[in-house]
Amino acid sequence: MALRKINLNTALTLEPEGSVLLIYTGGTIGMIYDRTGSHLVPFNFEEILVRVPELRQLNIALSLISYDEPIDSSDITEEDWIKLAAIIQENYEDYDGFVILHGTDTMAYSASALSYLLENLQKPVVFTGAQVPIGKMRTDARENLITALEVAVSTRKGRCIVPEVCIMFGRLLLRGNRSKKVESRQFNAFRSSNYPPLAHAGVNIEYHSMVLLPFPTGTFKAHQKLEKNIVRLRLFPGLAERVIRNLLATKGLKGVVLESYGSGNAPTAPWFLNAIREAVDRGTFILNVSQCDGGRVEQGMYQTSKFLSDLGVIGGYDITSEAAVTKLMFVLGQGWSPEQSRKMLESNLRGEISLEPL
Ligand code: ASP
Repeated sequence: MALRKINLNTALTLEPEGSVLLIYTGGTIGMIYDRTGSHLVPFNFEEILVRVPELRQLNIALSLISYDEPIDSSDITEEDWIKLAAIIQENYEDYDGFVILHGTDTMAYSASALSYLLENLQKPVVFTGAQVPIGKMRTDARENLITALEVAVSTRKGRCIVPEVCIMFGRLLLRGNRSKKVESRQFNAFRSSNYPPLAHAGVNIEYHSMVLLPFPTGTFKAHQKLEKNIVRLRLFPGLAERVIRNLLATKGLKGVVLESYGSGNAPTAPWFLNAIREAVDRGTFILNVSQCDGGRVEQGMYQTSKFLSDLGVIGGYDITSEAAVTKLMFVLGQGWSPEQSRKMLESNLRGEISLEPL
């Protein structure tokens, strides 16, 4: 990924209200029609002020770092997340906030990953994108982008209001690691079923201070390591023993997000429990996440989940699968002892879980 940083609005006449580094990775937001008018192609984001002249009225000093070749977010990898965290670290002191333009398909994963990588974050990192390309009349890109920029420079009593990684989309500001893409055709593409929105963007942007993360006191740090050998295992009735055993016996497998039923329940067939026990004994961390969007894992509530606790499976509380996969990648990437890793997986690191029901 080659990167180039440019200042977008060098001719601001008033003292800017704030400064934002826009990081453009790709996705639908940056698409326009080609000359034939029949194909959508990535647009040169350096021309964003021509396409969205309203941005000038915001009076925000804008810089842009753009992927040379914008990508569909289906192609995002853990290397991109580490790179994004490094860009934020390198530019941390120079901007009030950061806006990451990203495809919607994997935005919830990227926002979750960044939330773990950026420790003691004291500035907003706002992901946004669009369902309709910026080059189409009825695009939602303009509104999403403008609101994301406003969030990125929002302050109260001299301090930023949102010291966290979030997603601004369709008038909702959501915590990144609580979000899920739930719509591929409507504008309200993201939902956070187990946690209230951080803000509603109506006539004004109304922040809900009770649910925002507290301003951290520690020193900001961008972590640079993630473990890749993780898998999601979504249970369904009629699982084949051979398939599950092969999956869990994958060489080098470090972590499994076990997507269980309801409040964390799984089959009690001896072969299944043995396969889980053997994986735990081999040192694989298994994080139990509910297939239900709303609610939480309560291991031990039913006999069908008590077995899992007894085997050493870790309850994921009300975490999303996106936040669980990236939490495993982060925690297991840090080189901590098994005890420490387990403790961290059970802890609320960045507001991704509520240890008690809300
Ligand atoms: N496929 C696109 C992406 O995730 C969809 C979008 O941007 O909304 O990159």
